[in-house]
Amino acid sequence: MAYAVKEIFYTLQGEGANTGRPAVFLRFAGCNLWTGLERDREKGPGGCSRWCDTDFVGTDGSGGGKFNSPAELVSAVASHWPGSERGQQPGGARAPQLGAARTEQRPRGDEALLSTGGPAQPVAPFVVCTGGEPLLQLDEPLLAEFNRAGWFVAVETNGTVEPPAGKLWLTVSPKANAPLRVLRGNELKLIFPQEGAEPERFQDLEFQHFFLQPMDSPQVQENTARALEYCLAHPQWRLSLQTHKILRIP
Ligand code: SF4
Repeated sequence: MAYAVKEIFYTLQGEGANTGRPAVFLRFAGCNLWTGLERDREKGPGGCSRWCDTDFVGTDGSGGGKFNSPAELVSAVASHWPGSERGQQPGGARAPQLGAARTEQRPRGDEALLSTGGPAQPVAPFVVCTGGEPLLQLDEPLLAEFNRAGWFVAVETNGTVEPPAGKLWLTVSPKANAPLRVLRGNELKLIFPQEGAEPERFQDLEFQHFFLQPMDSPQVQENTARALEYCLAHPQWRLSLQTHKILRIP
């Protein structure tokens, strides 16, 4: 199949358990919970279109386009990783600039890389597949191609679409009015607060990590205080801050 990609860029993962880890972001075009058009904002079935701040429409972003095969897309992603031939600075990648804006609210989970001593291990290249809803397009052949090439693949999904078989780090971010089909994974990252998506609804699901992430809105300070208070009272939950927004990097 052909893959429609909004943008591809190199930055740090800003949220969740992989915060601070350098990553290539692969933003697929399209979402099943909103067209991305302003006129449809109130009609999005998940309720999240009212506060969604991601531009996932079209293929016109930096590095975006149509890719006709898994190999073509993996090669495009690899060109952004340090050490690639097409990199733009020593080490290969173009470093994000402090102060540049990023369009989304947007997760080192490779346990094999954790070591208590000995020589440093090589770091697997890290790709974060996001959207829109990346599982509308991330299929088994593409995931297999990433896995074959040695990539650590993370996926940030709204949880309404089953993931393909293969090795990946799965982050699920449930939306209040959308049917949650993905009930297990690596991290559950709940945008907070969302009426109808209270943390208690998700606390018994099979995830390694549970994060509350304050909703970015004019009330972000109040949302952060409430999320902090909830985590302190319910230690199963950890606070996830959008550090890329704090740092103002893409
Ligand atoms: S699922 Fe995510 S990308 Fe799609 S409309 Fe909701 S918040 Fe935006």
